[in-house]
Amino acid sequence: MEEKVSQMAKDVYKREGKRPDWDEYFMSVAHAVRQRADCTRRQVGSILVKDKRIISTGYNGTPAGIKNCSEGGCERCNGSEEQFPRGMHLDKCVCSHAEENVIVQAARHGVSAAEATLYTTNSPCTTCSKMIINAGIKRIIMEGEYPDELGAKLLGDANIEVIKIRGE
Ligand SMILES: [Zn+2]
Ligand SMILES: [Zn+2]
Repeated sequence: MEEKVSQMAKDVYKREGKRPDWDEYFMSVAHAVRQRADCTRRQVGSILVKDKRIISTGYNGTPAGIKNCSEGGCERCNGSEEQFPRGMHLDKCVCSHAEENVIVQAARHGVSAAEATLYTTNSPCTTCSKMIINAGIKRIIMEGEYPDELGAKLLGDANIEVIKIRGE
């Protein structure tokens, strides 16, 4: 599924004579950011955009200075599906999510995420949705599926505009 989505994204830009619109353009940047993701379970890229400027980028993986997920840094991600089923034991996961990192990076550099648009290659989980709401992000352009109904409900209740492009 993830492979299919990134292939579809690539195809869009191959189309002859077509200049990508802003949402396609920024989503292609989120895909480039995603390539830096270091998590054995999933790879996600996120960027924050304000006034057509990228103000922050984030991908998922273990925190700075902590052993990479791909090198065994996260016990949950490296554990078996039986031990740590998908979507469960998130409190045992050492990896930060892309949406979490994109907000934290903005904070670290003193840039306000208020009124920004988030471009992300997967739909946000509940925890990230809460952060997105409180960071003041107003719009989300996303691809992919994350089995998180509560996250989606919270974003809707908080009146954040969510636009799904490509993917299913
Ligand atoms: Zn991981
Ligand atoms: Zn998340």
